[in-house]
Amino acid sequence: MEDVRAMMALFGAREVGLGGARDPRLKAPGSRPADDDRGPFFLFFGAQPDLWIGELWPRGRAWANGLSEATYETNFCARWSGGKNFLNYGQAGSEVALEPDGSVYPCCLKTKAPLGSVAEERLIDILDSLRGHPAFEAINAGDPEAMGLSAGWSREAYRNASVSDPKGRTFANVCIGCDAYSAAQLGMIWPRFAHSAWPAREPGIPCRRLCRTYETP
Ligand code: SF4
Repeated sequence: MEDVRAMMALFGAREVGLGGARDPRLKAPGSRPADDDRGPFFLFFGAQPDLWIGELWPRGRAWANGLSEATYETNFCARWSGGKNFLNYGQAGSEVALEPDGSVYPCCLKTKAPLGSVAEERLIDILDSLRGHPAFEAINAGDPEAMGLSAGWSREAYRNASVSDPKGRTFANVCIGCDAYSAAQLGMIWPRFAHSAWPAREPGIPCRRLCRTYETP
């Protein structure tokens, strides 16, 4: 990132922040340019090593190409873009991910299946319907390892749900445990979709590029 900043400095481009709550790892300026300041500015936002997805999610092309450096201790769920606080609408940091078809997910990484669809229900109603369920409360707490405790899945069982990635590496991460638990318990923890025609996301299918996060009202 320092190289990018040095390159931009050659052109007089000043870095702008992402706004909102600041993560110390952003190491970026937090001040907003004045409205009449015409720049030039730049914002470089991605999977830099010092950002919250620096290890790369075990999803999409990073997964297919064996690029994720995440370990089991890399808890994406408790970071920005993860599932933490997704149920706490009305509070800072509460976000969900919406697909263009209306599918709702608690995180940008995407769970095994969508939680609902805003094409069919109000987002608030979907979230309220999940409140109090142990699996979703665990995600909401940023502690997905606890998803299955009440259903007999110990933390150890969750941790042991490692897989071989497409490059043959043994890979364990809380999101892989989330996939495994959800695959095994899909009809139970997604009871609203037990008889749904909506397909569960298959492993390795890239997140659609149009995925965006929205703060819930
Ligand atoms: S553990 Fe599950 S809910 Fe949490 S970020 Fe990973 S995929 Fe999303």
